[in-house]
Amino acid sequence: MSDMKTSLLAVTEQIDRAARDCGRDPGSITLIGVSKRKSSDVVAKGIDAGLLHLGENYIQEAVEKIQELSSRKVSWHFIGRLQSNKARFAVQYFDYIHTVDSLKLAREIDRQAAKIQKVQKILVQVHIGGEDTKSGIHPDHTLGLVRDISELSHIQVQGLMCMPPYCPDPEDARPYFRQLAKLRDEIRAQDVPNVEMNHLSMGMSHDFSVAISQGATLVRVGTAIFGERQ
Ligand SMILES: *Cc1c(COP(=O)(O)O)cnc(C)c1O
Repeated sequence: MSDMKTSLLAVTEQIDRAARDCGRDPGSITLIGVSKRKSSDVVAKGIDAGLLHLGENYIQEAVEKIQELSSRKVSWHFIGRLQSNKARFAVQYFDYIHTVDSLKLAREIDRQAAKIQKVQKILVQVHIGGEDTKSGIHPDHTLGLVRDISELSHIQVQGLMCMPPYCPDPEDARPYFRQLAKLRDEIRAQDVPNVEMNHLSMGMSHDFSVAISQGATLVRVGTAIFGERQ
């Protein structure tokens, strides 16, 4: 078995175990292989090994890879910081954008999606606990942002995403994941038209099991599949 197959198998087994340990259907969890800074050859090996979803952080790098791999039937998720002036490319090349955290950015995505008659699926990135990053909307303002975005006809909110501060012990990330899940439940209870709150994008290589036990539906795993990045 190739190294890629071995590591992918280890990750999917860990996902299945984490799901079963908390009584969830493993099929309700989608693994996104995060391929930033990995060449398209390496990504192709990941696809050959069975990856169906890939995550990228940098538009220019991603567009090159997606073009090179355009014959492959995979879904692409944009998980990096998105500047409004790059929204056009994100809309053109990505099935999901996980990192929408302002109405300004949402409006630009909507405008670009309208141009190509697409309804862009997005997640709203929430700033959960931590000063490490400036990305994400404050939890208290998330419902308001979701309501505003729901009025845009070429964008559809599918859930929430977070990137909590790095915790050496993954158990320490649990409260953050729990907080995002609670916020998702609260927003879902509002039944905002044109909004689905089915997805929780949370958990990375070192903490995805904890994220799954708190309800993650999309886990973003890079290093554990593709190895360390330069
Ligand atoms: C790089 C990255 C990941 C994957 O991180 P690993 O620790 O390599 O699994 C997940 N999510 C986001 C937003 C990232 O930037």
